[in-house]
Order: sequence, then C-alpha cells, then structure tokens
Amino acid sequence: MFADAAEFKRAFQNRLEMAYGKNFQYSTKREQFHTLGTMVRECVSAEWIRTNESYRKTRKKQVYYLSIEFLLGKLLRQNLLNLGLEEIVSEGLADLGIDLDELEDQEADAGLGNGGLGRLAACFLDSLASLDLPGHGYGIRYKYGLFEQKIIEGYQVELPEQWLRHGHVWEVRKADESVEIPYWGKVESSVENGKLIFRHYDAETVTAVPYDIPVIGYRTRTVNTLRLWTAEPSRTMDSKHILQYKKDTESISEFLYPDDTHDEGKILRLKQQYLLVAASLKSIILTYKKQNTSLLSLHDHVAIHINDTHPALAVPELMRILIDEEGFSWNEAWHITRNTLSYTNHTTLSEALERWPTSIFQPLLPRIYMIVEEINERFCRDLWEREPGSWAKIESMAIIANGEVRMAPLAIIGSHSVNGVAKLHTEILKKREMRLFAETFPERFNNKTNGITHRRWLLKSNPSLSNLITGAIGDGWIRETEKLEELLSFKDDAGFLQELDRVKSANKERLAGIIFERNGFSVDPSSIFDVQVKRLHAYKRQLLNVLHIMYMYNRMKEDPGYHFYPRTFIFGAKASPGYYFAKKVIKLINTVAEKINRDKDAEGRLKVVFLENYRVSLAEDIFPASDISEQISTSSKEASGTGNMKFMMNGALTIGTLDGANVEITELVGRGNIFLFGLTAEEVLSYQKYGGYHSHEYYHHDKRIRQVTDQLINGFFPDTENEFTAIFDSLLSHHDQYFVYRDFASYVKAQEKVGKSFQERETWLKSSLVNIAKSGYFSSDRTILEYAKEIWKIDPKTQSSLDI
Ligand SMILES: *Cc1c(COP(=O)(O)O)cnc(C)c1O
Repeated sequence: MFADAAEFKRAFQNRLEMAYGKNFQYSTKREQFHTLGTMVRECVSAEWIRTNESYRKTRKKQVYYLSIEFLLGKLLRQNLLNLGLEEIVSEGLADLGIDLDELEDQEADAGLGNGGLGRLAACFLDSLASLDLPGHGYGIRYKYGLFEQKIIEGYQVELPEQWLRHGHVWEVRKADESVEIPYWGKVESSVENGKLIFRHYDAETVTAVPYDIPVIGYRTRTVNTLRLWTAEPSRTMDSKHILQYKKDTESISEFLYPDDTHDEGKILRLKQQYLLVAASLKSIILTYKKQNTSLLSLHDHVAIHINDTHPALAVPELMRILIDEEGFSWNEAWHITRNTLSYTNHTTLSEALERWPTSIFQPLLPRIYMIVEEINERFCRDLWEREPGSWAKIESMAIIANGEVRMAPLAIIGSHSVNGVAKLHTEILKKREMRLFAETFPERFNNKTNGITHRRWLLKSNPSLSNLITGAIGDGWIRETEKLEELLSFKDDAGFLQELDRVKSANKERLAGIIFERNGFSVDPSSIFDVQVKRLHAYKRQLLNVLHIMYMYNRMKEDPGYHFYPRTFIFGAKASPGYYFAKKVIKLINTVAEKINRDKDAEGRLKVVFLENYRVSLAEDIFPASDISEQISTSSKEASGTGNMKFMMNGALTIGTLDGANVEITELVGRGNIFLFGLTAEEVLSYQKYGGYHSHEYYHHDKRIRQVTDQLINGFFPDTENEFTAIFDSLLSHHDQYFVYRDFASYVKAQEKVGKSFQERETWLKSSLVNIAKSGYFSSDRTILEYAKEIWKIDPKTQSSLDI
C-alpha cells in the first residue's frame, strides 16, 4: 500500500510508463485506468494470499455461493473505498491532472446478471468479505453481459455488451486450475470387487477455465474470491469437426440469458448450468481434499448455497462425485449432500419455475440423469410409505413427471434449507406454492429477507448524504447499520432537515445534468422526481405508472381547476428481447414522453424521462436523486425487491403495494411514512383462485380508465396505429391479469396524496429521515449474518479470518 499521495503518484507514473513504454504525458485515460486497476489488484494480492492461507491453516468452514449471475457493476471506486485508498489515490491523481471520476468512467460495468437476483449475489459477496466471513462466489464469465439498450424512435434496440473488449483488470486467469467437464456420451455399469461401477464414455469434453476476482472487505484484511468459469475447447478432444467443436464449446459461456422470469428450456442454458456446477464442485472438493482426508464430514467444513434453481444440478453432481469417484454408499452420499447444500427460492411466478424435458436432459447428462431418477424414485417411495395411496400428491411433488425434470423439487429435496427472500414471499411459499413440501419438511423452510450493501448503495453512491449522517451520529453506522436509527433524534432538528433537503437537491441537480447530457432536454430539479427503475415486466406494472401519467396529462388539458405539484417521471428498464408486451410498454413510455415533453401546456408541470441502458452504474446516480420510489407490483408477485431498499436508504418515500419487502418497509417506517395502495396479496390470490375479475366493468364505469385505454388505439398518439393493441388487449381481452384497472383508482388517490405531502416540506423531510433511519435493517450484512448463523452454521465470532 502507499504511505501518501506522493508515493502513490510516483509509483503510478512509473507503472504506467513501464507497462506502456511511453511517456506519461502521452498516456490515454484507458491506459491510466488500467494501470490504476492493476496497481490496486496487486496491492490486494498479499492479503489475498494471506486470507487463503489462513483459511487453509485454520480449516474454517467455507461457504460457496453458486449463482448463474453476479451483477457486479464497476469495482474501482468500491475497491478503493473498501481499502481506504480513495483519498490518497484521488489526491495523487489530481496532482497529475487526472480526475478519478474520469478514470472510473473508463471501467465497463460487469453486467453479468439481469437484475435483482444477480445484484443480490454481488451484495452478498461484499457483505461476506466485510464481515470477515469465509464465503466465495462461483459463477460464469460470460463473454457478453446483459445487452446494451439503445432507444431508437422509442423502441428498444439491443446491442451486444462487449464488456471484455479492453480486458477486465480485476480478474486473474488460473489456467492451471482448469477442470474437464463431460457432456453427452454413454454410461455403462459393471461390477468390480462386488461393487457397482459406472463409467461415462464417449463424452464430449469441455475445459472449464477459472478467472478469479478478489472480493475486498470494507477496511478488513479479508480478501475472498469470486471465481468465474469460461468454457474452452479441451486439448483431449481430437474431434474430426474441430472447428464446429470449438465454436460449440465457446458458445457455452458466450451469452447471459437475458430473461430471468421465463424458463426457456434451451439446451445451451442447461450446458451453462452444468458447467457452473460441475466445475465449481470439482474446484471446491480439490481445495477441501488438500486439508481434509475424508469427505464423510464435508458438511462440517463446507456449505454450498444454490442461488435459485439454476445451480440445482449440484444435488446430483455431488452425489455422483461421492458415489462414483469416492466410493460412498448411496445413503452416506445422500447424508453428506443434503447437509452440505442449501437453496434460495426467488419467485413464485409459475412461468419462471425451471423444468427440463427429459429428452434434452437425459442425453446431455446421462449419468446425472440416472442419479436424478434414483433420487426421485426413493423420494416417491418415501412419500408412498408415509401416505399410501396418495397418487396425486406424489405426482405433484415428484422431481420427474410428465417427461420433465423439475428443478425446484430437486433443490428442495436435496437441501437441508429452503428459504424465501421476504416475509410475505416465504409465507406464500409455505402456504401455497410449496405447501406440500413445507408440510413434508417443515424444518427446512425459513425466511431470509433480502438486503443490499450500504457500502455501495449509500457510502459510495451518495457521499454527501453519508457525510451528513456521519456528521450527525458519527461513523459507527458504517459497520453497524442499525445505528442509523440514531438519526431519529434529529427528527425535530430544523437545521438538520434543511441539510437533508440541500443534499437531496444537489443530487437532483446532478441527475438533471445527466438527463440533459443523455436525453437532450432539461428537467426541473425542484419538481418531484418520481422514479421507477427495474426490469420491465407485466407484474411490475410500469403500465399502471404510464396510464396514470396519461390520466394526469388528460386532466391537465381538460380541467383548468386541476392543480398539482410539478412532477418529473423517470423510468429506466430493459425488456427481455423476446418479450413483446414489455417492449411495447417501453415504446408507450417513450411515446407518452414525447407527447408531453413537447406540449407547452405541460412545461414546468409534467415531464417524462426514459433513461436508456439501466444498469448498476446508472442506478447509483439515480437512487440518491429520487423523491418517490415506485414499487407498484401486483401484490404477491414480487418476491422481495431490492430496488425498494436502495431508494429507502437514500431517503426516497415509497408509493407501493403491500408486496415483497414493501411489507417490512411498512412495518419499519409505519403507515404514515409510506404511500400504500391497491389489493393485498391475499385479495389478489383469492381473485385468481376464482379466475380473475371483470376488467370490462372498470373500463365501463371509470371514465379516466376508459379515456386512457381508448387513447392507446384511437390515434391520440400520432403515427402509432396498431402500435399498442397488445397492451389494449392485455387489459380487456385477456382480463388484465395483473390488476392494473383494479388498482388504478387507489393508485391515483395515493399519487394525489404524494403531491400534497411533498409540499408540506417539514413533514416530508421527517418522513425521508425516518426512511433513512430505519433502512439499516436492509443492509445485506444483516441478511448475511442470518444466513451464516441459521443456514450455513458458521458463527461469525469464531469464523474471523483475522485469528492467524
Ligand atoms: C437493485 C437492482 C435491480 C433490482 O431492482 P428491483 O426494483 O428490486 O427489481 C435491478 N437492476 C439493477 C441494476 C439494480 O441495481
């Protein structure tokens, strides 16, 4: 590390000239960024080695978090902050005439995820390292991250996200730790020394090569590892069709599937899942065997977590290793496997529940399929013995049924813990979606409400608010976020509230600058910044938001007595490329924006902004500048949400349904500090039970609804003939599955309340303060400590990596 800015500056200049063989004054921003990144990574190397050495020597129980996505974003600023180097580095760079912010702009977002699930995995890694816990991530190093979104004439256009074009400074290729992964082929069994032996032959082998990224804890000495795999051609393959083989192999880790709410059932996706699982388990067991002799007590030393069902093949793969390679009996292997694995469910949307046709699964993974069949048979037999004659129940719980392998049952049956991600979500799992499993294995089901790392989502992304907080209550909240509650004593401190207002205004000014730069028009920072940023999905109901904007606009045009506080509606959302409806909603938002933003009558009153290419780095600019957080999913559909927590932590007030973690937000801040509306989860679920509701009635009885709906198709928007018929039909012909009409009136009312409340400045600021003060609960440190104690059985007190 560096003693001071001068030492850093010398080293930096020297490194850059050595690396690029050119005089410093001619170096480009990219070269400067790359040099700085390399230096930071090397700074960390000694502690990385030390951490691993300590794990080896102390033989602490290790946690491995398997996830098909890690939505990391940029790492430079966070790493500097965690290392405590931010000041020295920015000072040293400034001396050289370089702005650290500009170097940060050079870094590409590591967008190896779709949204919430992948971002959760990234937050968890930050918390594990910051809490000195021995926890590591395993994922896939996609050559292309989630697509880059461009908006052209209001439509989403997708471009490949070439995040690796200039390399990734944080990674280290570990070719010597590559492992071979077999696909296809045949399995034969024979008896040797009285034991049944299985041999997998004629397989197509692929080499999985790991790239390691150091995960640096906040001001601790712990450096954990995120290991990402790529698929490369194996040297052992002497295929006749070598070019085709090479292409097929490399395609495995080429693309991230851009849809997390629909199961595509594609063979390439299954190949990705097996790559992740087989390579990770090989690597985990290799590490384990260097320190321990018997795998019989694997679960005392290793916990493997399955993030959603994408890595659920870990169940049969671990069984395969224990039985075929290590010679354990089925029962021994089952005991070890179940006690090692745990699983998180992320959704109750049935279209998202993964299932694989056996006609794909069986030939691609023949030995794994045999094991899944055996697990299934034993499980069904157990059920039968518990409850003879319960055919229907067994069929609905079976892992294999109707020619498909169901991944959720596989994960539940093969784990010792199954958790949901918010109170309501876990209740719905236990009482409805997974009721039979919860009744069969009640001790397995538990809740772990999601969290976010406050180090990125507050400390790094909102420095002025962080400084204000620290000035008021000291910096203890950075380690223990519950201490944010101490802010409550400033509720009646007019001076402090004014400062809070000033910080928010400055952040809004900054975002207005970004909007001007990107969208080419200005927005009024004193208007309400009303923000909905998240993936575009029918259940998240961006449509409800737009229809409400249309209603406001209509009324503004027609009713001279209509007064409302000026609003800027801000959207950010990517739609899956194949999701027709979602793309139409994007077009609608942009069409409404165009109409309103061009209308002189709306000037100074209404603005609509669509920020393209929503991603982690853009999110970091948005949350600190938001007044209103739109969390308006159809109740029961959003498992938790984590965007809602980021907004809250940055002092935005939520308008939302009682869905996902909004329920816990409400419990924490109280109903007076949140704008609730709409059906409850119970109401939605009971409507659904009886086949939905009559959306036509709402269309006919509510003029406002009729007007905005008709505008979708009657030429209200020029040149959009037939453009929005799919949306129109979803509301009327398809009975408005997501209850947009049903919740419309209630939403309008809640929005009116928002407009009025915003003008009562002191009350509003107090609410904002309460939201910040109560947001400590949503630190992912709290979440991770719960996982550590209750699922992984690692006690943070004795697990510190510092005791060597
Ligand atoms: C937090 C986050 C999400 C998840 O947002 P939700 O509102 O919970 O769906 C998605 N994308 C990015 C870039 C995020 O930072």
